[in-house]
Amino acid sequence: MPQAATEGTIPSTMDALALLGPNEFEVQTTAVPPVGPQEVLCEVHSVAICGTDKEIISGNFLKKGWPRGYPYTPGHEWSGTVVALGEGSAELGFQPGDRVAGTAHAGCGYCRQCAIGRYNLCDNYGNEDVGHRHYGHYSTGAMRQYHPSSIKSVFKIPDSMTLEQAALVDASSIALHAVKRAGARAGETAAIIGPGAQGLLAGQLAQLMGAARVIMVGRGERLKTATALGFEVVDNSNTDGPEAVRELTEGKGAHFTVDTAARGNTPADAVSMTRKGGRVALIGVPLEPCVLPLQRIVFEEMDLFGVRANPGTCVEVIPLIAEGKLDVDIVTTHTFGIQDFATAYDTFTQRLDGALKVLIQPNTQ
Ligand SMILES: [Zn+2]
Ligand SMILES: [Zn+2]
Repeated sequence: MPQAATEGTIPSTMDALALLGPNEFEVQTTAVPPVGPQEVLCEVHSVAICGTDKEIISGNFLKKGWPRGYPYTPGHEWSGTVVALGEGSAELGFQPGDRVAGTAHAGCGYCRQCAIGRYNLCDNYGNEDVGHRHYGHYSTGAMRQYHPSSIKSVFKIPDSMTLEQAALVDASSIALHAVKRAGARAGETAAIIGPGAQGLLAGQLAQLMGAARVIMVGRGERLKTATALGFEVVDNSNTDGPEAVRELTEGKGAHFTVDTAARGNTPADAVSMTRKGGRVALIGVPLEPCVLPLQRIVFEEMDLFGVRANPGTCVEVIPLIAEGKLDVDIVTTHTFGIQDFATAYDTFTQRLDGALKVLIQPNTQ
C-alpha cells in the first residue's frame, strides 16, 4: 500500500481511482505523475463526489468528451497540501506546505473570454497544449493520492479553514456564481429548487447576498436541513411548487429563482415561481428537453441565466467559509478512504443515510 508523503518524501506510486468504462471502476496503483511548469503537485486530502461525477461515471457525458477515453481518473472538488513545485510556481507565490482548495477549470489565459475573466468559457476549451484544463472532466482529475494542478486552479486557504471544508470550495463557488448571475439584491425573496448540497449552499449565499427570505422547493428528508438553515420550505411531493411559492409571496412569486435540480420540468417551474421582471438562474445540467413558458418570459420581461462553473468566485467563498458565514459542514455528511470508493459512491448516488456531500480521503486508510 503506498504511503502518504512525509517530510518531503514523495513515493513513486500511489492509489488512483480509474474508470474503465461506463459504471465500471477500480482503484489502481499508478505512478505519481510529474509536476509541470506553473503547476503544483499536491498531496490530496479530500475529494467531494459531485452530481457531475455521477453522470461522468455513468457515461452520460461521453459525447461531450467527458472523459475522452479510459482508463480515466475523475474528481474536481478537492483540497490538499502542496508537496512539490513545477518550474515558475515559486515565482508566482507558491511553496511546499501551502494548503489549497482545488477546482476544475483552468483557462488558457490568453483568449478574449479569459482576458475578461470568463475563463469558464475559454475559447481554447479542450486544448491542453495551450494550457487549458478541465480537471475531472477531460483532464485527469484528483481522485488519487497525488494530483498535479495548474496554479490557476488552486487557491490558498487560511489556517482557520479545514481541508475538509476546502473540498467544498468548488461546489460553494458555483452556488455563488449562480446567485450572482441571478443578481441577488437586498431584501428580496429567493426561491431555490433542489434541497441537495448545491441548493443548500445557494440558499445560504442568497442570504449572504442580501435576500431576506429563502424558499426551498423540494422533497424528502433534505428539507429538514433547509429548515435548520432558516429557509422556508415547500414540499412539492404533495403540492404544486410554483403555486405554493406564489401563495407565500402575495401571489407574486420570488424575485429570483435558482434551479439546482434540472430534472424533468424544474427549469419551467423555476420560471413559473418567479415574479414579473424576475431572474432565473439554471445551475443544474438538464439531461432532457423541457418546454419553457416563453410567452411569459417575453411579456413579463424575465431574465434567464445559464450558469457554468465558478469564474472568480473561489476566492470569494473562501473567506465566507473561513469566517463561519457559509456553513459547509452541514452539507458534508460522509467520509471514506479511496479503497471504499464503491461504498462511498452508492452512499452518494442512493442518498443513503441522509447523504449530501460525500468525501473521499485518498491518503487516509
Ligand atoms: Zn462538481
Ligand atoms: Zn482562454
